[in-house]
Amino acid sequence: MAPTPKECDFLVLGIGSGGLAAARRASGQYKVKTIAIENARLGGTCVNVGCVPKKVTYNAAAIAETIKHAKAYGFSVKETAPFDWTLFKHKRDAYVKRLNGIYEKNLNNDGIEYVHGTASFVDTNTVKVAMDDGTAQEIKAKKILIAVGGRPASVGVEGEELAINSDGFFDMETLPKKIAVVGAGYIAIEMAGMLNALGSEVHLFIRHDKFLRTFDPLVQDKITAEYERQGIIIHKQSSQSKIEKGNGSTKRLHYKDSNGEGVLDDLDEVLFAIGRTPELDKLNLDATGVKTNDKKHIITDDYQNTNVDNIFALGDVCDRGFELTPVAIAAGRKLSDRIFGGKEGAKLDYSNIPSVVFSHPEVGSIGMTEPEAREKYGDENVKIYTSSFTAMYYSMMEPEEKGPTSYKLVCAGKEEKVVGMHILGEDSSEILQGFGVAIKMGATKKDFDSCVAIHPTSAEELVTMK
Ligand code: NDP
Repeated sequence: MAPTPKECDFLVLGIGSGGLAAARRASGQYKVKTIAIENARLGGTCVNVGCVPKKVTYNAAAIAETIKHAKAYGFSVKETAPFDWTLFKHKRDAYVKRLNGIYEKNLNNDGIEYVHGTASFVDTNTVKVAMDDGTAQEIKAKKILIAVGGRPASVGVEGEELAINSDGFFDMETLPKKIAVVGAGYIAIEMAGMLNALGSEVHLFIRHDKFLRTFDPLVQDKITAEYERQGIIIHKQSSQSKIEKGNGSTKRLHYKDSNGEGVLDDLDEVLFAIGRTPELDKLNLDATGVKTNDKKHIITDDYQNTNVDNIFALGDVCDRGFELTPVAIAAGRKLSDRIFGGKEGAKLDYSNIPSVVFSHPEVGSIGMTEPEAREKYGDENVKIYTSSFTAMYYSMMEPEEKGPTSYKLVCAGKEEKVVGMHILGEDSSEILQGFGVAIKMGATKKDFDSCVAIHPTSAEELVTMK
């Protein structure tokens, strides 16, 4: 006999950052009977195969760069100090595992019932969970939140089973000596930069002449040139036709780029990072009538409502255009405030969301790019301020070792409201957070200028631009 269905007021599908935030707010704060279901490790993409292990790896890459730079400051350290990737990888795995445990503790502390299994809809109020032990459990809920995230998009190239994606990056037991990275967005650029800094020979395959093409042109130009300067081999206007086994455990990649057809041999890995797809296949969304767009993202309004009354969605499964952890967390909290906390009208404001690429150097962006502002306000109403310079950190180094720093403010209207800020250089991630507050508050160029500079820093340029 099938077990009696469990019942709850709030059922959360997916315990990543957004799902957990919504569940904790609902159960912990508003005492709503909440069940949360996850079929993988707790914490979702960010904790397991995203932000967290990425930033730790980025730190390792930054240390490698500092060791390289140390000579210029008079240190006699060996630039080729050996790096034990395997030891580092296992320490990183252990750290992630600790975080999985903290997620579980948080679920318990907030009284959320946690079910480990794979959910699929039966109807708009019922979900069937295929449990790990082979049994099934039905759960009925008044309100259901879909927060199941996404997975790396598939590639469509012959032999793609030989390639890895960003999940595979974190599984690598050894540092690849030679790797092909395909993609032009956040993940490809971060991973290519980290691997290059740690000593891999990196071939980056992009479809156009520049990468990070959703960013301001200044960022695209400078970061592409900088990656070339650092020795990353960029294959522009490229496509891939086949991946096959090479000698030993290596792989061979057949490609076309701006120089014609080519074959790259002796690759330890071929890594594709060409976007992510919502993880909806197993959900049986058809049983609910919840609508998706042409990219299979769930369509939501500003309040995370789907077209079905009691079903909500947030995070990477949605069509909001920001696949970012803090966006999902903020949306989750606001949703629970609204549907359980009586805070009518609570919603995440999706305007002016800052974001950073942990490239080498870091890139940060908030608000409109210059072309977007010109389109919206007209050329005559847009004023651009830029500054490109060599940060004092590089003053001790030879010209060929110096990295770039470039900033742009996009201002609109007579009052020169800052509607966009785009920065490339060391510490951009830390710099952007504070300026993000000012921009979110509607700061003008005059407000920026009224803040006394902190000297000597790079960020002071942002309050002294002419
Ligand atoms: P992105 O959406 O950032 O970039 C994917 C890019 O890859 C496309 O824009 C496209 O650029 C290029 N591309 C697509 N198909 C191909 C192809 N066949 N061959 C070569 N290039 C191709 O996706 P990511 O996978 O990098 O990241 C997914 C999301 O995760 C990001 O959008 C971001 O929101 C989030 N993320 C955020 C991070 C952060 O905050 N630091 C870090 C990592 C991820 P083009 O059109 O120029 O070819």
